[in-house]
Amino acid sequence: MVNNTFIWIAGFAISAALVNGLGILAIFRSKEWAKRTKTYFICFAAGMLISTPLMLALPDALEKSRNAGFLALAGFLFMVFSNKVIRSRTKEEPLAFGVTAVEGIAIHSLVDGVIYVVTFEASILIGIMAGIGLVIHEFAEGIITYTTLLKGNVREKSAMVYAFLIAALTTPIGAFVAYPFVDKFGDPSIGLMLGFVSGVLIYVSASHLLPEVRDSDKKHSLVAFLIGVGLAGFIVLTKL
Ligand SMILES: [Zn+2]
Repeated sequence: MVNNTFIWIAGFAISAALVNGLGILAIFRSKEWAKRTKTYFICFAAGMLISTPLMLALPDALEKSRNAGFLALAGFLFMVFSNKVIRSRTKEEPLAFGVTAVEGIAIHSLVDGVIYVVTFEASILIGIMAGIGLVIHEFAEGIITYTTLLKGNVREKSAMVYAFLIAALTTPIGAFVAYPFVDKFGDPSIGLMLGFVSGVLIYVSASHLLPEVRDSDKKHSLVAFLIGVGLAGFIVLTKL
């Protein structure tokens, strides 16, 4: 059964894969430009992705289920520990770096796909807000995946193809696999899942993306971050 929510999810998940592919193509063709632009995209995404759970997703999750706060904490801790595992494994040996990094990116991109489903199932507005932030961060993700593969001694052309399979294609796959399951749940369950997703988004923006704003010596990275925050605020206030 095709409904509005599904069309939104499919549209964003497919855009995510395309923007990811654009990132890969950009770094393949023009390394300097892509690296420069990447920072701004990350900073903008950080702004959107910290504003969405704090202003909208978590409050909405709590309205749907009183226990959503616990799940938000669980989502946050899940990210802390899964990143610890990836770190400790990549320290051991160089080969593990390539394999674990690729695994990590593949799982992350699948989860990205699931996030589109959960946020849009909760409300179109939350879906759009998280979706804009996520689609923009895909550009950087494509670039990061490609450069990670190069570090693992994969040739440039193959790295381009693999990066697309690992980072880009996995997001719509995650979305389309999750959709039939999530679509069956009622509000309380969606609330719990949205709580978890809020915790994940808070972690990703505050611990993954935001340090880029802090550490980047580029003049306008803070501006890009504030544009992200401002756009999120604008969307919430106008209920676009
Ligand atoms: Zn991602």
